[in-house]
This record gives sequence, C-alpha cells and structure tokens, in this order.
Amino acid sequence: MSIAVSRKLAALPASPTLAVNSRAKALRAEGRDVLSFAAGEPDFPTPPHVLDAAAAAAQAGQTRYTPSPGTPALRKAVCDYQRRVGGSAVDYEPGEVLVSCGAKHALYNLFQALLDPGDAVLIPAPYWVSYPAQVQLAEGKPVPIHATLGEGFVPTRSSLREAAGLARNTGAHPKAVIINSPCNPTGAAYSRAALEGLVEEALTLGLVIVSDEIYGRLTYDGFEHVSIPSLGRDAKAATFLVDGVSKTFAMTGWRTGWVCGDREVIAAAGRLQSQSTSGPSSISQAAAIAAITSPEPFLADWLAAYSARRTVMVEGLNAIDGVRCPSPQGAFYVFPDVSGLLGGPDRPATDTELALWLLEEAGVACVPGTPFGAPGHLRLSYATDLDTIREGLRRLTAALSL
Ligand SMILES: *Cc1c(COP(=O)(O)O)cnc(C)c1O
Repeated sequence: MSIAVSRKLAALPASPTLAVNSRAKALRAEGRDVLSFAAGEPDFPTPPHVLDAAAAAAQAGQTRYTPSPGTPALRKAVCDYQRRVGGSAVDYEPGEVLVSCGAKHALYNLFQALLDPGDAVLIPAPYWVSYPAQVQLAEGKPVPIHATLGEGFVPTRSSLREAAGLARNTGAHPKAVIINSPCNPTGAAYSRAALEGLVEEALTLGLVIVSDEIYGRLTYDGFEHVSIPSLGRDAKAATFLVDGVSKTFAMTGWRTGWVCGDREVIAAAGRLQSQSTSGPSSISQAAAIAAITSPEPFLADWLAAYSARRTVMVEGLNAIDGVRCPSPQGAFYVFPDVSGLLGGPDRPATDTELALWLLEEAGVACVPGTPFGAPGHLRLSYATDLDTIREGLRRLTAALSL
C-alpha cells in the first residue's frame, strides 16, 4: 500500500544544510576522510556552569511539565538579558516573551500567529533557508529582497520598497519583513545607519519587523550590534525580537530560544505551542537561565578564536582563482562568490554540483548557495578548529587548481 503524503508537505524540502551534513556523515561511515565546513553550530562545548545548573535542576526534581510559554524564571531572565545586551530601551515584560524549542521553533510559532493566506513576508536574500519554508507553512508568501556581495549583502531601503511593491503587484499584502543581522549565511552585520534606514522604511510601509538576532553577540573587529527594538518606541512596537542560547552559548542541542514582542501575538503563538509541543524541556530551561544570567568569561576567548579562524578562511579562499570572499563582521560563516569556478569543460555547472563534487573529490563539505537564494555561492562555516580549516583549504585549493 502506498500512503499519500499531505499536499502541504509533499513539496516541503528538508533543510539543505542538514542534507549536506548527512551526506558527509554517510561518507565518513564508509571510512572516507571528510572535513566539514557545513555545520551551523559552534564547535565549543557548553560551559561547565551551565551543565551544573542542568544537573542540579534534574536532581531537584525539575522534571515535570513547565508552563507552556516557558518557566516564569526563564521569561523574567530573558527580559533582563535582552535589556542587558540590547540596551535599556529593549524593555520587555515576561508576558511579552514566548520560550520555545529553539529560536527556529519560536519563529515557526510566530509566523503561524502572524500570517493569513495572501500575506507576504519580505526576506533579504541570501536568506536562512527556514524563513521561506516557515512562511509557506503558515500560508504566507515569501518575497525576496535581493542584496549582492557588492552591497555587502545588506539590502537597501529602496530594494525593500521595491519588494513590497512587487508583492502588491502579485495581489499579496506585504505584512512583515525579516531582518537577520548578523546574517546566516553571509555573516553580514548591518550598521546602525543601515538598520535605521530599513526600519524607517518598514514603518512607513506598515510592516511588522521580525528581527532574528541569534548572532547578535557574535561580532568581530569591534563591530557594535544594534538591537532593532532599541531604535525607538515605534520600532520596538512593530518588532518581534528573536534570540536564544544556541549560538552564543554553544547550546544548540538544548533547544531553547524565544521571541519577544506584542502581547496578543505572543499569546496566540503560545496557544499554538500549548496545543503542539507544550513548553521546552524543563532541564534545558534551567540551563538557559544559568547561561544568560552568569558572567561570560569564555565568550571573549570564543570570539577571538572565531575571528582568527575567519582571517585564515577568508585569506585562503581569496587565494583560489575564481573565488571572491568578503570578510564578514558577524556570525561564523563566509559566503564566497564561486561563479568564477563554474561552467567550462570538466567543471561543475552550478554551485550545487560544485558542493557535491568538492565533497566527493576533495572530501570537504560546504553548503551550496542556491537554497539560500544565492546561486553561484557557497557557505562555509568556520566554527571548527584551525587545523581543520587549514587542511580543508589545502584540499580545496588542490582540487580547484586542477
Ligand atoms: C541557528 C539559527 C537559528 C535558531 O537556532 P535554534 O537552535 O533553533 O535556537 C535561528 N536563526 C538563524 C539565522 C540561525 O542560524
């Protein structure tokens, strides 16, 4: 008997970053020596005081369901944390916070609570692959705002306006814009001036702003991350701030993230959560409290390590003929233009073919740019040790110099 998958999910692609990782794992299982630049997570271990807090919570019997939107202690801690890292204007109350199973889940719940059929969400491209998928699952229409390497991968105000017009021309109602600074996959960090311009335009267009600031603490060269709700009362009122412990505190497996914003929408997203997953793990929530309320001496070391790795990665890639790689100021990804490597005899024709070819021929896993809305690029993560980065670059250089 063949069982039909629902129409809604039949066409839903699996996350391509996870797909490359699983192909790399399969090759490893066959005994191949594969280096990976495909991972989207820190390589550092979760700090020991966080592990201790989790163990203590388990021992103390915090092993039952928590309130569905998150424990009162964590929601309060999230308010204090966002104020500490974003500035005094980033001032939320616990009732304006929903804690979910990772920021990804918070975003999913948020889009379900925000969108009706016919609502368009404007998404700067290159974009994190889950944004358009989640918008579509909420019956919304993703509309890209294209930003090029030449523009530092930061969309302009006028391109935001054009995308809104484009959405309207197709009969859709522009409802929201996503801003993800620093950005996955490009590492682009938006300046205060760029954010102010985009936010002003979004407010003029009557758009809700979904600000995914999951990489806000991971910036380099003294770059100052600006939290969008800090840009004034109107900006804060229109914004949903998304953050979590995964990237900053090396806690991807703990699955704890959150969204802060308008009380009614947060409550609706919370009702969805109460009927689907309930609250996140009680142990993880206790661990998250320890992460966001404790001193962070390890963070400076991690940032120094990321920054040094970034330098090696960018220099190594730019030394390869046909590769153009800017040095981004945030997150832990580089997003080189590899269009110069494509086509011609004995060469892969697309970034997707190139990524597979590099995996098979050089034993190096990179993620193709096409699923991020940017054909002709690759995404490489430098959240891995320097030896791996140097050896990976050596293999890429050898394979691509043939
Ligand atoms: C990793 C990531 C997230 C969410 O991570 P969680 O582990 O679900 O908290 C959200 N947005 C972007 C852009 C990311 O890269």
